Amino acid sequence: MKTLPALLAFTLLAPSAVNSQTKPASSADPKIAAALRQISAERVRADIEKLVSFQTRSTLSAQDDASVAAGRGIGAAREWIKSEFERYSRDCGACLEVKNDTYTQEPANRIATATHITNIYAVLRGSDPESAKRIVLVTGHYDSRNSDNFNVTDAAPGANDDASGTAVSLECARVLSKMKFPATVLFLTVAGEEQGLYGSAHFARMAKSEGWNIEAALNNDIVGGDRNSQQDPSVVRVFSEGVPIAASDAELRRIRNLGGESDSASRQLARYITETARTYGSAVTPLLVFRLDRYLRGGDHISFNEQGFAAVRFTEYREDYHHQHQNVRTENGFEYGDLPKFVNFEYVAAVARLNAATLASLASAPAPPSNVHLLTKELENTSSLSWEGSGAASYEVLWRSTTSPEWEHAEPVGSETRATLPISKDNVIFAVRSSDSSGHKSLAVVPTPEP
Ligand SMILES: [Zn+2]
Repeated sequence: MKTLPALLAFTLLAPSAVNSQTKPASSADPKIAAALRQISAERVRADIEKLVSFQTRSTLSAQDDASVAAGRGIGAAREWIKSEFERYSRDCGACLEVKNDTYTQEPANRIATATHITNIYAVLRGSDPESAKRIVLVTGHYDSRNSDNFNVTDAAPGANDDASGTAVSLECARVLSKMKFPATVLFLTVAGEEQGLYGSAHFARMAKSEGWNIEAALNNDIVGGDRNSQQDPSVVRVFSEGVPIAASDAELRRIRNLGGESDSASRQLARYITETARTYGSAVTPLLVFRLDRYLRGGDHISFNEQGFAAVRFTEYREDYHHQHQNVRTENGFEYGDLPKFVNFEYVAAVARLNAATLASLASAPAPPSNVHLLTKELENTSSLSWEGSGAASYEVLWRSTTSPEWEHAEPVGSETRATLPISKDNVIFAVRSSDSSGHKSLAVVPTPEP
């Protein structure tokens, strides 16, 4: 029997295949799984207690040499984080480049006098020169505050907000630096968050102006799993923007016309985290929240979104406002203050494992396909997609109902860069992703109409 010569390069998928309800899935990489087992709640506890020991990490607190030597203030915290990254680097044969991103913030909202703000980061450069241009990063803010933004001497332990996120970045660096990835992994800790995302905004602007290709930014802020009675330690919230902050007017028109409100690159990253959690049997289940951040609140991922990068925020299921941003005190029987004793170190370690699994999976995967288009020259009830390859071993077409939060089907199409499916583009949302020969999957890319 003749095959389908008229379709040439197209892979026409049989309706039977399409009706097979193939769920998108990835297989666990044993090397990544082994690395995740090294992430330690004890290390997390030691990191958080050390950060708390600096008394305050207010961005406005002391940074002079004497205070650093005395182990007091944000300067001492900064030097300790740097020394930790350098220690991990010594343990991996100088595999990390440890860097400062420092600038002077002139007086501004919640900053009374010119203040040095320093972000510290470690770069695990990709092993493949081309893939190394792709960057995935994890971040937390190491600054803290108490009840008064301008109080720079009293205790501001910030054990949950955000020594927990800083510990996630440190643990990811410690464990993943023992591995090699084709793409680059960057471990970041920022300051100036509590005054208005100053540090992350500076870093993200630098990345944008230098043309960095940040594929994913994972922000961990308040991932301590506060031990309150209504906490659910089996859940971590993952916030992602819907309509991108950085969308142009033309992109906004297309989003409105095509129903793209739930398909930002950040939301594909959130979906990827959910699939990664299943693949590696995460002890914390992501609760995807389709919202930029908590109601009327913000965090460092927004600085990356503003520069057009995919970025999400991890936060514990239920925050306790007796603990965050509070002077340490007891009042009417309530203990106030962001102290280590309220942090669940096992929970932080579980969140760190999910971050590390996501970073390692993305850094192992080939680049996502580019120029992904739905072919629209003819009106037809089938749907044809085309894309440009990224040197990947194979590709998958994903789709879901327009009302579904997550991808519902995945169809492998081999190394072809075109596919036709007997499904109407009117009724579903499509995407394409890349895979290497070991099954590491890229982020999904939603098509635009062919130009
Ligand atoms: Zn915070």
